[in-house]
Amino acid sequence: MWETIDLKQTNVLWNSELRLVVDAPAGKGFRNLIDEKRPSTVFLSHHHLDHCGGVKLALQNSIRVSTCEEALQFLRLQQHVPAMYFGGFYPKEMNPEKVPVNEIEPESPELTWVELPGHTPYLKGLADKDTLFGFDAFFGKEILAKYGIPYHYDGLRALESLKKVRDEFELFVPSHGSPGRRELIDANIEAIERLVHYVLSQALGLQMEKIVRNTVTAYSDPKDVYSWSLNASAVRGIISGLQRIGLLQVEMTAVGPILWKA
Ligand SMILES: [Zn+2]
Repeated sequence: MWETIDLKQTNVLWNSELRLVVDAPAGKGFRNLIDEKRPSTVFLSHHHLDHCGGVKLALQNSIRVSTCEEALQFLRLQQHVPAMYFGGFYPKEMNPEKVPVNEIEPESPELTWVELPGHTPYLKGLADKDTLFGFDAFFGKEILAKYGIPYHYDGLRALESLKKVRDEFELFVPSHGSPGRRELIDANIEAIERLVHYVLSQALGLQMEKIVRNTVTAYSDPKDVYSWSLNASAVRGIISGLQRIGLLQVEMTAVGPILWKA
C-alpha cells in the first residue's frame, strides 16, 4: 500500500490508491516524482523545511497541499525560530519564502497516526500493520553516525516516544537514512541517552553554555554556524528536559546560568 521513495536527502511516502505523497523536499527528486506519479495531494509530516521545500512546486502543479493544524502554526512562525537558524539568518536553501503557507490546508488524511512528540512538539508517525513510518522521530544509523547529535526539539520527549513504539512494530522507516528493526530504535535511544549522561556528568557547577559547547564538540563536528546552532539547540532541549524532570538544577548567576546535578 505504502511505498518509500528515496529522494536522496529525504525519503517520502507514496500511496498509489490515494495518490497521496507524504512530504515535499525541495529539489530534482521531488520534481521527478511529480512528473512520474502525478499525485493529487501532498501531506506534510512536519514544518521543517527539508520536508516542505517543494511546496511551491506542488502548488504550481495544481496539487493540493495539506498538513496538521500544529505544523501549519509552526510554518507560519518560521521567522520566530532563531535558536535553530542562528538569529534568523537562514541557510539560503532553507529560505521560508519557498513555502507559501497561506495555500496549505489544515487537515490530516484519515490514516492510522501514532503520536511521537519530541522531534517537534506534535510529530505523528504513520502506522501500516507492523511498519512505522516515523519521519524524523528516529534516524537511520548512517545519519546518526554522520551527525552525532540527532536533532530533537525535546530530546527527553523523543526518548519517551521511542521507548513507547520500540516493541509495537517490526519495521521502522525514517525520513533520513535506512530503515531497520528494533536495533534501529535502540541506536536512536542510545544516541540521545549518551547526550543525557554527558550533560549530567558536566553539571557540577559549570556554566550552561560551556556544557552546551562541550557536548556539541564531544559528539559532533559541525562545519558551519547553522549546523552548530542546530546541535546546540538540541543540547539545550535536553538540558531543559532534565530540569523539567528534576535531574538538573539551574542556578542563575551574574555570568549566566550554572548547572548542578540534582
Ligand atoms: Zn524534521
